[in-house]
Amino acid sequence: MSLQTKWKAAILGHAVGDALGVPVEFRPRSYLKKHPVSGMQGYGTYHLPKGTWSDDTSMTLATIDSLQHGFDARGIMDRFCAWANDAAYTPYEEVFDMGMATRQALLRYLSGQAEPVQCGGAGEMDNGNGSLMRILPGVFYCKARFSGERFFSEGIKLLHSLSDLTHAHPRSEMACGIYACVASALLDCRRKESVFEGLAKAKRVYEADSRFQPEMVHFERLMQPGFLSLPEADIRSSGYVVDTLEAAIWCLLTTDNYSDCVLKAVNLGEDTDTVAAVAGGLAGMLYGLDAIPEEWLAVLAKRQWIEELCDRFAANVFNGTAD
Ligand SMILES: [Mg+2]
Repeated sequence: MSLQTKWKAAILGHAVGDALGVPVEFRPRSYLKKHPVSGMQGYGTYHLPKGTWSDDTSMTLATIDSLQHGFDARGIMDRFCAWANDAAYTPYEEVFDMGMATRQALLRYLSGQAEPVQCGGAGEMDNGNGSLMRILPGVFYCKARFSGERFFSEGIKLLHSLSDLTHAHPRSEMACGIYACVASALLDCRRKESVFEGLAKAKRVYEADSRFQPEMVHFERLMQPGFLSLPEADIRSSGYVVDTLEAAIWCLLTTDNYSDCVLKAVNLGEDTDTVAAVAGGLAGMLYGLDAIPEEWLAVLAKRQWIEELCDRFAANVFNGTAD
């Protein structure tokens, strides 16, 4: 299976996960135990039709639109602003979900007082999942641009800059980098067990960099062999970037098909759309497009437009690579 085929499965997998989670965003796990989500449903938290995706997918699509022309931090920030201010890249010309850190970073950018990569908050409290939820196109971009070990040096560095646009703390950068290492392993070898190779690689990459050594402790549990066996009660699904990354990878590891993975992510509760989007991107690339139920894709808002954008990105970015 080529990088190009996995690309569309990953992006649609991400968008479908987002849309499955939107109607129950912020619901506690206890509520979802009694009323589990088993497919696309409408209304709920934001009173929107079924198949509606949120900021996670909007910012992912804005990134795709810019990255297809090469990495340009201003180009990406301009598109984020078009989303935030003019509802570009939205299902129904309406912005209904925006994280605080992202809002502040865009305001900083629009004030013209900072370079794009200096717009993201860099404090301990700026570690929401707002960059992790939109990093996926960057991973594919870097896979196409940097082969072999260069992906883990130059590629990861570029992904840190991509995170920095809204989330510049090393922990957020590292969460994006770990996600990228896992995704890279899944792209190289389509087996679920590749996740462990990806995590081991991430550990080696970050242990070797003194800037990230103080952050290792926050990802220690994820990188331990026993992570897979943790009970659901120990998995948190909040908007904290470490919780989201852990929950998404745990859902991938403890299921064996796309649907079960994203539904498990949604039914953990709290930040349902983002956990399911992050998990869904990985599950899409692991199981492929055919594994995403057609009945879910059929109601996905602006599906055709998303696919056309993916095709344009693929034509520009993957052509001429070794893939
Ligand atoms: Mg969202």
